[in-house]
Amino acid sequence: MRPTDLLFGPDALGVARDRRSVVVRWLGTAGFAIEHDGHVLLVDPYLTRAPLARCALGALAPDLALLRREVPRADAIVVGHTHFDHVLDVPALARQTGAPVFGSRSLVALGRVAGLPEGQLHLVEPGALAVERAVGPFLLRFFAGAHAPLLLGRVPFPGDIADCSDVPTRSWQYRCGAVLRVEVEVAGQRIAHLGSAELVDGAAPARRDADLLLLCVAGWTTSERLPERVLRAISPAAILLCHWDDFFRPLELPARALPAMRLPALVERLDRASRAPRIGTLGLHGEVWL
Ligand SMILES: [Zn+2]
Repeated sequence: MRPTDLLFGPDALGVARDRRSVVVRWLGTAGFAIEHDGHVLLVDPYLTRAPLARCALGALAPDLALLRREVPRADAIVVGHTHFDHVLDVPALARQTGAPVFGSRSLVALGRVAGLPEGQLHLVEPGALAVERAVGPFLLRFFAGAHAPLLLGRVPFPGDIADCSDVPTRSWQYRCGAVLRVEVEVAGQRIAHLGSAELVDGAAPARRDADLLLLCVAGWTTSERLPERVLRAISPAAILLCHWDDFFRPLELPARALPAMRLPALVERLDRASRAPRIGTLGLHGEVWL
């Protein structure tokens, strides 16, 4: 089974597109644009997709021309954690759109060093209680989250982006920071986002319903009983698998899976642990309607 065998068409969830629709568009990795009635929310947008050699050895920088072309506007930007494949493009996107950004202390430090105005930076620190923020038609709810221990049993680049005198240019300087599990409510639809394949058990007092769960695949086998724990915390009507793609390939090429994603086993475990939700993927730029 390849990710493309699971492709959702735009109407895969049985909804036709009209003015009330919520459009969920995949930007690659854990990145999404969630759109409703002319409003756009970006979650973990990473479109630059720098090649592997540059990520390993060279200097990283957002592809500004591509960002202007691909993301003409945004009303808000949410960041689940500050690894480069989630946050590299965020300061540039915030600057070009003027959108407020929401995330961890590590994100705020990055925003400051990138010269974003203080009023554009919104620190979110959920503890035992979720944090809620409203932007336009979007209600954002943040729960404490966690990152998969996918590098030899450890979280890669732990700690915060802090005390930097300039915008980081090396992949390893993009430290993880606190991890947020995000829930978005818009137009009566609830969308849950897990940008890494791990979560904090009990971060919410009760199981959360979701119309759509955006679930990161990379690293899922390194997290203990991940499919079962996710579905104990969240009860989704449908699951969209993300962050399975080789993000060292440019955006204009078709998405190709990273090695060792073990997709058939993941789908089988999700199927077995739940009330048979729809499970699918999108291609790059692909969208599904709610
Ligand atoms: Zn990460």
